Amino acid sequence: MKPVIALVGRPNVGKSTLFNRLTKSRDAIVADFAGLTRDRHYGDGRLGDREFICIDTGGFEPDSSTGIVKEMAKQTKQAVAEADAVIFVVDIRLGLSAHDSDIARYLRSVNKRVHLAVNKAEGMSESPLLAEFHELGMGEPHPISSAHGQGIRSLLDAVLEPF
Ligand code: GDP
Ligand code: MG
Repeated sequence: MKPVIALVGRPNVGKSTLFNRLTKSRDAIVADFAGLTRDRHYGDGRLGDREFICIDTGGFEPDSSTGIVKEMAKQTKQAVAEADAVIFVVDIRLGLSAHDSDIARYLRSVNKRVHLAVNKAEGMSESPLLAEFHELGMGEPHPISSAHGQGIRSLLDAVLEPF
């Protein structure tokens, strides 16, 4: 069985860009505005001879209670339920937000393996800004650049290690 990896995080942090890189597809919709990818989206990923299934999600707003945003939260929770591991994506350029903390709290409650990917970190992998993400209590933050392909292999090595 291929492990299933869900990409979770608030809108616009770069989940779809990461999905495209992991699956080498251009299928996920990458938007310059928040929240366009509203459905779950599956792709085949590969690292060397290891294969996995990747799920892109539309974003996560756990406190929202209406409309499309509620639907996005529901889809994301279903993706997490289906997943063997979660990559929780945050944005180093926006920094840590209350929203990220809410997502972290949710992810802790579901008892899945979670890896924290700090995206948009091109040229910033040594940045002191990385340290603040320790606060999320999700282990060592992995600096990555989904757009430029940096840090992806080391992140995936950690994610796929138990499988
Ligand atoms: P999603 O809403 O989480 O799926 O985010 P998207 O993948 O749609 O990306 C949102 C925006 O962030 C787009 O403008 C991307 O080009 C940009 N982006 C994604 N990854 C990176 C990255 O590694 N570095 C930088 N600088 N921008 C990125
Ligand atoms: Mg997206």
